[in-house]
Amino acid sequence: MIVSSCKFPADTPPDCSLCPRLKTYRQENIQAHPDWFNAPVPSFGNPDAELLIVGLAPGVTGANKTGRPFTGDYAGDLLYATLLKFGFATGTYLAKPDDGLELTRAMITNAVRCVPPQNKPIGAEMTACRPFLKATIAQMPNLRIILALGLIAHNNTLSALDVRRAAHKFGHNAAHPVSNDLTLIDSYHCSRYNTNTRRLTTQMFEDVFVSIRHYREG
Ligand code: SF4
Repeated sequence: MIVSSCKFPADTPPDCSLCPRLKTYRQENIQAHPDWFNAPVPSFGNPDAELLIVGLAPGVTGANKTGRPFTGDYAGDLLYATLLKFGFATGTYLAKPDDGLELTRAMITNAVRCVPPQNKPIGAEMTACRPFLKATIAQMPNLRIILALGLIAHNNTLSALDVRRAAHKFGHNAAHPVSNDLTLIDSYHCSRYNTNTRRLTTQMFEDVFVSIRHYREG
């Protein structure tokens, strides 16, 4: 098993068993691929950053394999390239956890930390994992912006913040002031499906980071 070096206090125990279906799937993956990470994927980045990025859940051959969010996932190619371009990261992204890439001005986490079958967590799993998302948010003292990648991340973030969902509809590049000093910004998920269908283009994703820069500096 790959051992994560993340020591962020809001991370889950590697044997978390709050979600029986995901625990079973994890054990199947451990049996089939004992050299993969196969555990709840810890948050990655700088807890003192102003930006938190919330994804959906680890991909089975991406973060579940490598142990670092979005690393090895197709979605990570666009996400890390954009973070590097906009100065939130340093180094080079090589799709492996020992590539030396550092998230200097951002943190990445997932609404659900264990890989779900078919990439689809169920409601009970989102609810079970939400305290870890809440704790992540609470343990970032300088947090100003949360970027939600996709509708599920958007909804889970609002619930973690105890903010009514009805007052904040998901919209690509929409900004939601959820408190005096915290803004939630949405983006379509940077998944292979969304980029292949051009629901999300590189320009659209970079426009979201222009908005982030605006709110961070504003
Ligand atoms: S998804 Fe979250 S709550 Fe569920 S088993 Fe994994 S770490 Fe625990």
